[in-house]
Amino acid sequence: MSYLRERIRRDGVIYPGNVLKIDSFLNHQIDPKIMREIGEAFYEHFGDRKITKILTIESSGIAPAIMAAVRFDVPMLFAKKTRPSTLKADEAYVSEVYSYTKKTTSTVVVPKDYISGDDAVLIIDDFLANGEAASGLIDIVRQAGASVAGVGICVEKSFQKGRERLDAAGIEVYSVVRIREINYERQEIVFREDH
Ligand code: 5GP
Repeated sequence: MSYLRERIRRDGVIYPGNVLKIDSFLNHQIDPKIMREIGEAFYEHFGDRKITKILTIESSGIAPAIMAAVRFDVPMLFAKKTRPSTLKADEAYVSEVYSYTKKTTSTVVVPKDYISGDDAVLIIDDFLANGEAASGLIDIVRQAGASVAGVGICVEKSFQKGRERLDAAGIEVYSVVRIREINYERQEIVFREDH
């Protein structure tokens, strides 16, 4: 998936606090060709598992998750950050997720109807930083009595603690690209594959 890496190198902008902005092609304006390749990369890695559902969190996870869902030919489900008025509290699985970029905590919800004990769920997100979003989604899958087949990430910031946290929890993580370090002053991005 060198194309995603090259686009990050070309168009990525580094912000203070280890935040990488790539919203010209990944999570605001979306390059469908990159998304299709990301969906394919997730399928190449997890395609031999019996995955029955893809789960993500709104809004940035939706694009990669739907591309993966097309490839796996399973439904895609996303956690909402606010409970719709049409969904009663006792009809939803709920978890708390702290947002790395927004510095706020959301109570994320998934309708109980859409996930069952028989599901094998692949969790997908755009970025992995400290693992908060992935951990909240894992919590929801487990509340439903379903199994976590793995976590698929578009861009992993390997210098933050999310990967370690998920590895320690025995969750398989596959990331399309892994970033070893980013430097705000030099606007430099070093990928793990660079060394
Ligand atoms: P985590 O939950 O692993 O701490 O952080 C991942 C979540 O925060 C993702 O859902 C993503 O939307 C957001 N995020 C974390 N780091 C970055 C970043 O460097 N850039 C952008 N655009 N989003 C990030």
